Amino acid sequence: MSKAIVSSLYDSEVFRMACRQFDQAADAINLPDTIRDRTKYPRRCLAVALSVRRRDGSVTVFEGYRVQHNLSTGPSKGGIRFHQDVTLGEVAALAMWMSWKCSLVGLPYGGAKGGVIVNPNELTPEELEHLSRRYMQEMVNFVGPHTDVPAPDVGTNEKIMGWMMDTYSNHVGHLVPAVVTGKPISLGGSQGRREATGAGVAYLVKKYLADLKVPLSKTTVAIQGFGNVGSETAVALAASGAKIIAISDYTGGIYNPKGIDLKKALTYVQYQKVLRDFDGGEPISNEALLELKCTVLIPAALERQITEQNAGRLKCRLVAEAANGPTTNEADRIIEARGDIELIPDILCNSGGVIVSYFEWLQNLSSFYWDRDEVMTKLHGILDKAKDAVEYQKRKFKFSRRLAALTLGIQRVADAKQSRGLFP
Ligand code: NAD
Repeated sequence: MSKAIVSSLYDSEVFRMACRQFDQAADAINLPDTIRDRTKYPRRCLAVALSVRRRDGSVTVFEGYRVQHNLSTGPSKGGIRFHQDVTLGEVAALAMWMSWKCSLVGLPYGGAKGGVIVNPNELTPEELEHLSRRYMQEMVNFVGPHTDVPAPDVGTNEKIMGWMMDTYSNHVGHLVPAVVTGKPISLGGSQGRREATGAGVAYLVKKYLADLKVPLSKTTVAIQGFGNVGSETAVALAASGAKIIAISDYTGGIYNPKGIDLKKALTYVQYQKVLRDFDGGEPISNEALLELKCTVLIPAALERQITEQNAGRLKCRLVAEAANGPTTNEADRIIEARGDIELIPDILCNSGGVIVSYFEWLQNLSSFYWDRDEVMTKLHGILDKAKDAVEYQKRKFKFSRRLAALTLGIQRVADAKQSRGLFP
């Protein structure tokens, strides 16, 4: 028997959601009690106060976190989120999902995640740089190329990864490109990393549409979130012949049944920063976008968007979870009971990002760089293998696709912990 004696440190809707997913998967594979809680709970976390001098001379203290969920299978890996709604519980849930994701696709990593409570749109470029450097400065003894390797997530990008890499390198006294991934190419970033998550989502969507025998020329797509992942997914699917009929960001969405002009939308966002008032179609709310009639619905923004309120009203054939945790436990049950919607779960669907981050880390450690074709060929190979494993597990045990993916990811982490034993 083992028993967890845990505090309410991470308690939040989203952490409970990740725990319920874990419990369901652990029950499904009869994970022994002796290993269950060790596999489930985050290993450690760091909370930091980040003082930043503002343009007007005042000082603001921002709160930041890093949660390392699992370090048993390699250095931990996971993005850093800059968003006003970040909580420690959210970061812990995201770290947990990173563990299952890395394990599912066979990367030699554990899972981690970081976050800062800040709306980056309200900072000047200088303030953003100070905050990013401060965050890394506080993390110098907590992360590292063989301990924990951050990457971009919501609200962060390659420029920020470049500042963080520079800060860490200055502290240790020599260049350490492998301390973060998602860097600019000029600082050791990988070819294909910027588009990797979206390209991976699009690759899997195409594979599943082929399984469903739906031609791309007859495929319509609605995407919630038009940041790195949403926009790259849109571009990749449109290039393959699908019609993108709706896109959105936090300011609202645009619907155009004839297909959105993505080039125009991308240029608009490049200058305006947001989609608000983009004239490429009719305005649509984020809620209405999720219920549009389309072939593929792609949540690519935040967690808990498909809920018990709207799951019964979805009118798509396929949900591709580009975001992490976009579907609540209750919505999962509704979608499964409906039986008319296929769902590609987040830990498989958006794994292209961490897979190419792994390639970047390998290139940095060996100082030997690959071309884009090599990156994409290797990415597709890993995604194919992971998809096949999930489909096999799903058929063999009559699991939902999410349960199939989770059980594979969780089992491998638990096996590694079991084999390593308990350090006395
Ligand atoms: P981003 O910051 O580049 O873009 C986020 C987008 O979501 C923006 O368009 C923003 O306006 C929009 N958004 C925010 N709140 C919203 C709301 N309430 N309703 C609608 N739209 C909203 O972030 P990203 O890197 O594209 O990440 C998006 C999702 O993909 C997140 O769940 C993230 O964890 C996940 N993800 C990212 C990566 C990566 O490599 N960046 C990898 C795997 C998974």
